Amino acid sequence: MKMHCSLGERSYDIVLERGCLLDISEYLDCNRRYFIISDTGVPKEIIMSIRTQLKDANVFLVAEGETSKCMETYQMCLKMMLQKKYTRNDCVIALGGGVVGDLAGFVASSYMRGIDFINIPTTTLAQIDSSIGGKVAIDMDGIKNCVGAFWQPKLVLIDPNVLKTLPRRHFYNGLVEALKAGLIGDETLFEIFEKEDYLDYLDEILQRSLEIKRNVVEADEKETGLRKILNFGHTIGHGIESAAHFHDYYHGECVGLGMLAILEDKDIKQRVKRVLEKMHCPVQHHLDPKEIYKYIANDKKADGKSITIVQVSKIGEALLIEKSIDELERNCHEENI
Ligand code: NAD
Repeated sequence: MKMHCSLGERSYDIVLERGCLLDISEYLDCNRRYFIISDTGVPKEIIMSIRTQLKDANVFLVAEGETSKCMETYQMCLKMMLQKKYTRNDCVIALGGGVVGDLAGFVASSYMRGIDFINIPTTTLAQIDSSIGGKVAIDMDGIKNCVGAFWQPKLVLIDPNVLKTLPRRHFYNGLVEALKAGLIGDETLFEIFEKEDYLDYLDEILQRSLEIKRNVVEADEKETGLRKILNFGHTIGHGIESAAHFHDYYHGECVGLGMLAILEDKDIKQRVKRVLEKMHCPVQHHLDPKEIYKYIANDKKADGKSITIVQVSKIGEALLIEKSIDELERNCHEENI
């Protein structure tokens, strides 16, 4: 199926189709010049199958993992593109998970003042969430995504078949973003996760999650209001991720912990906890809350004293609430995740 993200001249198609990567000429111009950014953990077969379908493409492999979302790797990508004489008419392809997508998107947003960008996500997290919406960034000084841009892709190609090789922990980690999407905007999606055979609904999970994000992005591309609801669980989640130095927990796992920490409705919290346990995701962390809040206070969504957080009091509906940093700290201590 094909979805469309309507953003005026920045509009693009999102193709969600099993097997769509077997013949990409249907969706993009294979005669263009491409710079493919991928990482060392993406199976070679996937990279080669894309590379061989393109007439002129270089593949640049970065080390797998969050640490590649950094200034050094970003610079390496730009230098290689300059060395290989890429021009403004060429195109960057991100082939991998959210790390590669965020990095490659930021490279595309800034090379020669911005060139075309195509995202081919290969993890559940990227297929569910990060490949659409145009947020691209790298981390700096231990702070997540603090240097970046809004840069929409020209096309997103999603083939759920590539998820077969994804390690189990990464697979479930990505599903947490879909659980979040259900909580903020689609009760039916949330209820799918409560079914025993929820994995049989993977394609529907992907589609419903993408639709929620697409709708929100269309309404508020630059996150001046509504789009903030996509950050449900992320304020504390990013704090956990930073306090653990991007090491002990994956991004989605942190979002799961962040949702548990912020949820005030006991029933919803229990239901979320049960689903997270079923997905083998952590429901408790081992970090010092003080460390977490140090990073929350640095969050770019905080103005120093207060921060906008997202609350869910009814499944499928999200509210934006202003909270002081101190209140947030107390609240989370009390909740004792
Ligand atoms: P990731 O990109 O690190 O990928 C996880 C691992 O899976 C990596 O080791 C990778 O090499 C490997 N891999 C990728 N595809 C594979 C495949 N098909 N088979 C086997 N292994 C494969 O992690 P992620 O969870 O995809 O993304 C996390 C990142 O996404 C974080 O940096 C987070 O901040 C970012 N993110 C961005 C947005 C956004 O809107 N831009 C939204 C959510 C998360």
